[in-house]
Amino acid sequence: MCGIVGYTGFQNAIHILMDGLSHLEYRGYDSSGIALEKDEINIFKASGKLVNLVESLKKADDDKLDAKTGIGHIRWATHGLPTVENAHPHTSSTGDIALVHNGIIENYKEVKSFLENKGYSFKSQTDTEVAAMLIGYEYDIHKDLKTAVEAAIKQLKGAWAFCVMHKNEKGTIVATRKNAPLLIGVGEGENFLASDIPAIIKHTKRAIYLNDGQIAKVTPDLIEIFNPDGTIAQNKVEVLPFEPMALSKMGYKHFMLKEIHEQPDVVRNILQNKIKDEFSKILLSDVNLSEKQLKDINRIQIIACGTSLHAGLVGKYIIEELTGIPTDVEPSSEYIYRSTIADKNTLVIGISQSGETADTITAIKQVKEKGSHVLIITNRKESLLARLSDSLLHVNAGIEVSVAATKSYIAQLMSLYLFAIYMAETLNKSADKVQEIKHELLTLPSKLEAVLSEGMKIREIAKKYSSFKNFIFIARGINYPTALEGALKLKEISYINATGYAAGELKHGPIAMLDETMPVLAIMNKGLVYDKVMSNCEEAFARQARLIGVANHIDDKHKAIFNDYILIPDISDLVSPALNITVLQLLAYHIAEYLGKDVDQPRNLAKSVTVE
Ligand code: GLU
Repeated sequence: MCGIVGYTGFQNAIHILMDGLSHLEYRGYDSSGIALEKDEINIFKASGKLVNLVESLKKADDDKLDAKTGIGHIRWATHGLPTVENAHPHTSSTGDIALVHNGIIENYKEVKSFLENKGYSFKSQTDTEVAAMLIGYEYDIHKDLKTAVEAAIKQLKGAWAFCVMHKNEKGTIVATRKNAPLLIGVGEGENFLASDIPAIIKHTKRAIYLNDGQIAKVTPDLIEIFNPDGTIAQNKVEVLPFEPMALSKMGYKHFMLKEIHEQPDVVRNILQNKIKDEFSKILLSDVNLSEKQLKDINRIQIIACGTSLHAGLVGKYIIEELTGIPTDVEPSSEYIYRSTIADKNTLVIGISQSGETADTITAIKQVKEKGSHVLIITNRKESLLARLSDSLLHVNAGIEVSVAATKSYIAQLMSLYLFAIYMAETLNKSADKVQEIKHELLTLPSKLEAVLSEGMKIREIAKKYSSFKNFIFIARGINYPTALEGALKLKEISYINATGYAAGELKHGPIAMLDETMPVLAIMNKGLVYDKVMSNCEEAFARQARLIGVANHIDDKHKAIFNDYILIPDISDLVSPALNITVLQLLAYHIAEYLGKDVDQPRNLAKSVTVE
């Protein structure tokens, strides 16, 4: 989940490393460090945000900072507190080797006691230091860094992206990965390493992706890649997709607000060339399922984590409504540790913004062995999950910098609508509903713009409720996942305890908590469950809870029970989650912003969760 960057070439490494880390700060940000290789390996580390490392470098000896090769790291701690000692890079016992690591060494305790028995002692609580020591141990035997790394990873279990340097191997970075992302940026007379594109896109648009188990030896003029069996590999050089523009806030106070405001265009973009009008058949060339395969599908499993899981829950409603195919949704972390039932007639849909989510990767690898067709919905078409897919729906929302997912969620919803329509049309099902959804999707961008123009009103409501310590979000039907996602947004960025509940479940327990200190936010759409949610609101009102309504319609007789309400444009139930969530994203944003929280980089979180 952390960020890694490496450089070897003719420029001053420190500038490239620090700039690279600043573009990776969204991935993890509890401590950071760099190692520079000149005649020695010099290490600089700081706890807290990257700015602390910048400050500590100002006090460093200029001579030590003058190096053309180096590696850097921004950490999201898994083992050991976010202290300076635990920050990366970690070194071998002699200090000759420096290592940065993204991932978890699962058998670090066994390896640590093996090394302790050989007389090694450790300065940190991390799993990473154990790997650094082991590489050092192997180096003493083989006297070659690449061979030492090769020998060390054979003894490790878990997930890693490693960049390693040795003081005697001038200008060389050895890199390897297993279930964690790492790419090599190709330059002229210089080369780069990074766990994500933004770190290096300023310098090169050409990159090589390493496969699991491969080892790369990178110098300014040469990139050699070795397969796990030692043979030379010929990975192709690919063109990187992102423009640096995407990394600017474009005048917004936070990336999150900018990204929420991009949602109308994200929807337009994803619908373009796929839905022409409500009468023409959808065009979805990315689905590699033949008509026969599609007709044979008798169950669908959606696996995902966090916000993507909530998109999957909306997907279940739409897919079952349009196709009648039984669809289950499960967190990837649960899916992987039980006997799941999937076969060649099961379609498995994996959803992940980053395409790097470790639990989802493991789950997808498992189902591939069972012969199921794997459809991946992701914002990163070059990611590992995209590479594992049989069919790929690239949501194309553009880079999302804010840790709390917003525009990528809307884009995931759109992909699920598109896919459900595609299946229904192929299977000749639900023609009327398909037509209705197409119409609603085509008018969605302007309705999203209308919601965004209510930003100030939502801000006022946010201020009013910012001092509450607990919230309940309720909804029913297709907006139940919206309640879950709205509550998650509030928790993530404001640290307020918010719970999403199926409104009908309120009376089966949570109603016991209701009083004037527990606001209830209700999502109501004029449709199947409107009256039922209204009854649940009445029940909450009778317990003195303050009520906030988000609705496309509020009857006069009901207005009296709401302390505040936000009216959204009229929209059909089936497409309403996309509009309702935008209100809840803005509400969470303004509460967190009013409370002065670090909106784009909330504590303890990281953008892509590359550990299980
Ligand atoms: N497991 C390592 C640690 O806790 C690396 C974590 C990361 O990926 O940032 O230091």
